[in-house]
Amino acid sequence: MAKLPKLVLKPGKEHSLNRYHPWVFSGAIKKIKGDLIEGDLVEVLDSHDNFLAIGHSIIGSISVRILTFTQEEIDYEFWKSRIQKAFELRKAVGLIDNPETNAFRLVHGEGDYLPGLIIDFYNGTAVVQMHTVGMYRIEETIIKALTEVMGDRLKSVFSKSEGTLPYKAHVTAVNRYVFGNKSEKVALENGLKFHVDWEKGQKTGFFVDQRENRSLIEHYSKGREVLNMFCYTGGFSFYAMRGGAKVVHSVDSSERAIYITNNNVELNFPGDERHQAYAEDAFKYLGGIKDKYDLIILDPPAFAKHQNVVKNAIQGYRRLNAKAIEQIRSGGIIFTFSCSQVISKEQFRTMVFSAAARANRKVRILQQLTQPADHPVDIYHPEGEYLKGLVIYVE
Ligand code: SAH
Repeated sequence: MAKLPKLVLKPGKEHSLNRYHPWVFSGAIKKIKGDLIEGDLVEVLDSHDNFLAIGHSIIGSISVRILTFTQEEIDYEFWKSRIQKAFELRKAVGLIDNPETNAFRLVHGEGDYLPGLIIDFYNGTAVVQMHTVGMYRIEETIIKALTEVMGDRLKSVFSKSEGTLPYKAHVTAVNRYVFGNKSEKVALENGLKFHVDWEKGQKTGFFVDQRENRSLIEHYSKGREVLNMFCYTGGFSFYAMRGGAKVVHSVDSSERAIYITNNNVELNFPGDERHQAYAEDAFKYLGGIKDKYDLIILDPPAFAKHQNVVKNAIQGYRRLNAKAIEQIRSGGIIFTFSCSQVISKEQFRTMVFSAAARANRKVRILQQLTQPADHPVDIYHPEGEYLKGLVIYVE
């Protein structure tokens, strides 16, 4: 076995690793044996030098992201088998070779025991995004394993880590094709079409994590007047249209998002006059919608990316939700979401509770929503459950 640098924990700090939690925080470290630079593989030992795990080292408050709790060689076969398992899971949930849906998440970081790695698949193109230097350094290995696992299904791979590596690492990633380059930029989700712009779009180009919630919107839309706030690519809008909505208004502060939304609606429902899109700020738009809508979707960007801004973020979410609850027509339905990892399910629900109280209306929870099966949550890593949503009924 390759000899790795070793990191020894303080006494008692092994407990979370014994419970398979995949992070080591900097405060838990007693000493480091050997030279260690960011991105190196490192063996983690307890205070009596017993083996605990192997992971990628990071400079930051999370100092190691664990790859395995077994003493094993981290070689090509290791990576390939992890990607193979990720593939098998997507197969088990019906996402591989599905004629209706060819956009899904193939690798979801810790949820696939591959911390620091995200791979989204769009009709033949894999968009690979690295969040740690350790993963970035083995990009070639990952791509090779990916091409072997996916076979003919894979036409091209776009590497997109320019904005996702920790800036302190001083590693300059360049977004580029690393395999193939000609690819189909229209993908399918539940039979609906959408353009994906992985080169310029946010994240990997499309939010595949809302697939099932979008599908649910379709069932709630018949005859309703719908506001899709924070529409980005317009996903919720074209599902609502297929569900028989009377009117669908899509709003986003970004002109580009409005352009993408209009294009996607046109792809599915050419010339359909039920849809209008507006480039406007959410808070401003929500100021004047009294009784205009009876189905509202609120899917804002993550207001909190770090623990220290949670309080402000919750205030922002509350203000947003209160405005929608206040003004929705009686008998209206709101789909409200938060994708901030640092805000828990309980905090989210409490926020909606106080927004309802502030709006002084009777509100009931109809459904509780989360991320779909291609974003699995490692049961030992509850932080992986980042997407939270509620469907509420406003009397
Ligand atoms: N609902 C989308 C994803 C939303 S991403 C989907 O299903 O794919 C968040 C979007 O919010 C981005 O497109 C961003 O441009 C938009 N946004 C951010 N701040 C905003 C604001 N203050 N008002 C309106 N839109 C905003």
